[in-house]
Amino acid sequence: QKQVVPFQEGNASMKALLGGKGANLAEMTRAGLPVPPGFTITTEACLAFFKVGNRISEELFEQIATALKQLESQKGQIFGDANNPLLVSIRSGSVSSMPGMMDTILNLGLNDITVLGLAALTRNEKFAYDCYRRLMQMFGNVVLGIESYHFEQLLHCLKEKEGALQDHDVTAAGWKDLIEDYKKCILAKTGQSFPQHVYEQLRMAIEAVFKSWNNQRAQIYRKINRIPDEQGTAVNVQSMVFGNMGGNCGTGVVFTRNPSTGENTFFGEYLINAQGEDVVAGIRTPLAIAALKNEMPLIYEQLFQASKQLEKQYKDMQDIEFTVENNKLYLLQTRNGKRNAQAALKIAVDLVHEGVLSKQEAVGRIEVSHLDQLLHRGIDEDAVKDVLAKGLPASPGAAVGQLVFSADTAVEWSRAGKTVILARMETTPEDIHGVIASEGVLTSRGGMTSHAAVVARGMGKPCVCGCEDIRIVLDEKQMMVGNKIVKEGDWITLDGATGRVIIGDMPLHEARMTNELLVMLKWADEIRTLKVFANADNPHDAGIARQLGAEGIGLCRTEHMFFSSARLPVVQQMILAEDKEERLKALAQLLPMQQSDFEEIFNEMDGLPVTIRLLDPPLHEFLPNLEDLQRRQAQLMYDKEGSDEERDEVAHLLRKVQALHEANPMLGQRGCRLGIVYPEIYEMQIEAIFRAASGCIENGISVHPEIMIPLVSHASELKIFRELVELVAMQVLGKEKLRECPYKVGTMIEVPRAALTARQVAAHADFFSFGTNDLTQMTFGYSRDDAEGKFLTHYVDQKLLPHNPFQVLDTEGVGQLIDLAVNVGRVVKPSLKTGICGEHGGDKESIFFCHTIGLDYVSCSPYRIPLARIAAAQAFI
Ligand code: PEP
Ligand code: MG
Repeated sequence: QKQVVPFQEGNASMKALLGGKGANLAEMTRAGLPVPPGFTITTEACLAFFKVGNRISEELFEQIATALKQLESQKGQIFGDANNPLLVSIRSGSVSSMPGMMDTILNLGLNDITVLGLAALTRNEKFAYDCYRRLMQMFGNVVLGIESYHFEQLLHCLKEKEGALQDHDVTAAGWKDLIEDYKKCILAKTGQSFPQHVYEQLRMAIEAVFKSWNNQRAQIYRKINRIPDEQGTAVNVQSMVFGNMGGNCGTGVVFTRNPSTGENTFFGEYLINAQGEDVVAGIRTPLAIAALKNEMPLIYEQLFQASKQLEKQYKDMQDIEFTVENNKLYLLQTRNGKRNAQAALKIAVDLVHEGVLSKQEAVGRIEVSHLDQLLHRGIDEDAVKDVLAKGLPASPGAAVGQLVFSADTAVEWSRAGKTVILARMETTPEDIHGVIASEGVLTSRGGMTSHAAVVARGMGKPCVCGCEDIRIVLDEKQMMVGNKIVKEGDWITLDGATGRVIIGDMPLHEARMTNELLVMLKWADEIRTLKVFANADNPHDAGIARQLGAEGIGLCRTEHMFFSSARLPVVQQMILAEDKEERLKALAQLLPMQQSDFEEIFNEMDGLPVTIRLLDPPLHEFLPNLEDLQRRQAQLMYDKEGSDEERDEVAHLLRKVQALHEANPMLGQRGCRLGIVYPEIYEMQIEAIFRAASGCIENGISVHPEIMIPLVSHASELKIFRELVELVAMQVLGKEKLRECPYKVGTMIEVPRAALTARQVAAHADFFSFGTNDLTQMTFGYSRDDAEGKFLTHYVDQKLLPHNPFQVLDTEGVGQLIDLAVNVGRVVKPSLKTGICGEHGGDKESIFFCHTIGLDYVSCSPYRIPLARIAAAQAFI
């Protein structure tokens, strides 16, 4: 089987086999663009490599050698030849983009002999030896596992000795010396010499790139981006072109549109006389691409045209790497450019207006995680006084935290509950765990396309980079701008949208809706069939939910209405009541409070359904803590503090708390079990709902209350409450008004038994709302309060579970119960309305499942609504 594919034989549809980079190189080659020739070793070859214990089979190596021969004849050069040597780059290329996570080796094919040939051919000895030392450095690091700083240190010494400021100030003699130093370093660190045999270099390099699929940073990146480990990586072997041969050479990265704002302007950076890695590694700070227009106008024009061509072909914004070798342009790769949320939306909306994409395609393209970013925070401008410095606005959003200077400290401090900002001279992919742990990232060197900037953008973390005014002194754990000093642990604020670094912890404001988002949401609404409701417990949240597009309230948790300081004493009175009469007194006080809440919510949701869940807490949650009370009682008894009255009160409270105490409150007197024991509580709530409805109807508001009974496990529970609701509705509204109040009675399905007996339950229900928090808890038997901290992360880490089932719905188990209940329920009652209101209602994959099994709606917290609307549309597409 063919495991090696020359660029001219592949195409874009072969991405799974060739990886993203390989497929794109093939496609560009086909389109006649100037791509240095090469070939791709497939992902299948990679998987086969892992299978036989990380070894390249002889058969594969033969295929590689054959492809190399073909490449030699295309280029008119020979691999390992003393006079006319072919040099190649070896790059990873995974199916899903993982920028900077795996390894690259350039200039492969150089050794003590071929370097002479390269020097003679280019008449540039300095250049040839620079290439050679770069190879040794990359090979030493990636293939032989020697940490880069050993090489950096030797390079640094050389530059000091020669008085060179930049790498390209170093002399040929200097590079030769350095090469000897590198050889010694490699021998000392590994016990073996740098391989002079070019085929040995090739074999070792390919092996190393395959293996880099499993390095730590790649594994972490895959985990957070949910990329399957089984994909493997392809390897691209491409003939080298050189951007570092002199002043008419260069290298850079361009985006066809601005990846931060989405504006349709050519955007990018380049460096004259530099090699590819220099731009992305952030070692020198590059120039904006606009400057190339003056410096190399023809190249600029050609690059611009090629970029437009690629954008059209891929129907998306492209991120293109290019190199100029002796005034000739080469394209080294193209891919769909990473972008932040706002840019993604603007680009997609613009592409629809430009006639490139359909609305469905545009909506389908939105990454739901991007919406989280868009709904990002910014700085309250009035508070900004002390701007320390300004860098490049690499990833928008504002972040506040305590300053740290190492990735490890970032992780440690964040584990200890601190919020941190990670500041580094230049971030490298090795810092990824620190980036994850930080609120935001600051670098003093490196451009907008540096690896960490790209990674931060992908994660939606604010990032300011290339902030050159800042001098970081690692040893002293501080950084300086002029004579201002900021130390580890000091508070700073980053504004990733403008690049400002501000001293102190600035107040932040929440995100705003942009026009593009509104347009996209409108398109999503046209597409989707699944409705989106909100979980909202008060008028304020209901208002926000409606603004964000909620089509109703799917869950109003009434216990949340009891927590305010004004109400708590009355609630406690209700719970502490010695008899029903006393309890009714307290309830009578609570009734008007509830009623006014409901009135306001009905007002906000005029014309839309409002699902109100009757009380569902363990009662002891409203009473003081048992241990606190015991302590207070001991004080009162032994220290003779306080009055007799207080003593009585504490004793009384203690008795009640003890009486209500449950070994397992989550399986205790919760939900409708409470209403069964104290029907007067539910009766008060129902009365409040209908009184509120009555008032609203009088004011011309259209009300649609849906009364929801929680934690039902047996149809008989629902039957009782349905009868109670019907009775109270008639009593409060009377026949006339009832006609104007089309209410529903339904149940939450949170207990597996309720799902399993959906036939019986549906007989008494107008709707089923799946409370997937409890349903997950009870289906798995995992405590929703403890499991995550105790064992669930181990399950996910060890891949015993694909996800945390409290975040992403377990479609296999919990989902089956939902599917079953919906199907059976609808047989009994074809009009049965169905939805979900657990946390999963705001999760993309879970929403897809809800659409697939034909639920009518999902209900989620107000701020998740835009996301749910988009996801619901994508589920339809
Ligand atoms: C649920 O259990 O999914 C639910 C929505 O109810 P709560 O989270 O209030 O228990
Ligand atoms: Mg619940």
